[in-house]
Parts: sequence; C-alpha cells; structure tokens
Amino acid sequence: MSARVVLLGPPGAGKGTQAALIAERMSVAHVASGDLFRKHLSEGTELGALAKTYMDKGELVPDDVTIRMALERMAEPDARAGCVLDGFPRTMEQAKALDAALEEQGERIASAPLIEVEPEELVRRLAGRWICRSCQTPYHEAFSPPRTAGLCDACGGGLYQRDDDKPEVVRARLETYERQTAPLIAYYEAQGKLRRVNGQRSVEQVTADLEAAIGA
Ligand code: AMP
Repeated sequence: MSARVVLLGPPGAGKGTQAALIAERMSVAHVASGDLFRKHLSEGTELGALAKTYMDKGELVPDDVTIRMALERMAEPDARAGCVLDGFPRTMEQAKALDAALEEQGERIASAPLIEVEPEELVRRLAGRWICRSCQTPYHEAFSPPRTAGLCDACGGGLYQRDDDKPEVVRARLETYERQTAPLIAYYEAQGKLRRVNGQRSVEQVTADLEAAIGA
C-alpha cells in the first residue's frame, strides 16, 4: 500500500472517520487541516483567531497560511514516511503547492480516493454530528450514537457540536466545496490518481473499498 494519500470528498462524506481508520491500518499519520485549525483555536493562537473568521462563514482559510501549516505538519517525524491527508488540499493552489513541495523531496501523492455522497445525505449527516473534544472521533446522533450519550466511546471525552455544522453554515460549506474544491477531482483524475468510492455504505464497507482503491 502506498504512503501518501489525499482523501477527497465533500463535508460530511466521512473523510475524518475514514482517514483515521485508513491511516491506522497503513501505520501513517492522519493529517486533518480542520483539526489543526481547531487546535490553534482552542490554544488561542493568532492563526486560530484568523481561521475562525473564515470557518464561521463556511469559507476557506487563505491559501498561504493553510499551505504553510499543512506542509509543516507533514514535515513532523510521524508524517515523514507517509500520511493520509484529510481536508487538504482544498483549492487548486494548495494542490499545486503540495505537489511542488513533494517533488522537491523526490516524493509524490500516490492516490486520491474520492468519497461520493449525495447532497441531501450530507446535510443530514452534518446536522446530527457530535465530535469528541479530546480525540476528535465523530459520532452521529441517529446513525452512529456513542454508547453513553455525550461521551466518547474511545476516550471518554465530552462530545460537542461544531459551530460550523449549523444549517446555514453547512449550506455555505457545500457551496464552497463545489466552487473551490470540486475542481481538484479533475486535477487528480488527469494525473491518473483519482479513485471513486461510494460513501453511502457502512463505515466498514467504505473502509474496505478505500483500501482496495488505494492498494490498486
Ligand atoms: P473540516 O474540519 O475539514 O470540515 O474544516 C473546517 C473548516 O476549516 C473549513 O470549513 C475551512 O474553513 C477550514 N479549512 C480546513 N481545511 C482547509 C483548507 N485546506 N483550506 C482552507 N480552509 C480549510
């Protein structure tokens, strides 16, 4: 199985859940740009405050700061041998910067699986989503509830609902995805790296399909 994977898909497709599972199986790092921004926010950094102004509106954080943050994370020891990228790149500019940075190191993206889910299903999923404050494991109040309401099965941490999962912000995030991120599908397709996976199946089935797609 190859070491550097870009996991593509709209908000609510299951990227976070699947990236964590796949990264563990591949023994590589799970690099989630949204989690990195939320960590900055909880630590009260300047970047966190800047990111929040965009996240609250369902817009993308500017490319320069996002690219710097993601590439720095990818250079950390646990990610050097490989990673599953979740939420990055999200613009053509980011995708090109990522390819250029990897090329300088004699590396490349091995594959870019796309998790496909219908728009109505995305809205349903995001509206019922709860996330662990400590380990970021996502739950859904109807489809995958925690064993104890409000608490994470994995670590016992408290669950919360993201501000940007509110219906009006969800709509903006989906529009942002269509406008700025969907063009990446053609970009990776042209490189022969795109693999389409049906995201409207069980978590286990999607993981199995992703593994097959990445290993292919
Ligand atoms: P996520 O957790 O991946 O849904 O990301 C939450 C929010 O963080 C997004 O709606 C954006 O505002 C911001 N964000 C995450 N990743 C990126 C990225 N690669 N480029 C720009 N903004 C991002």
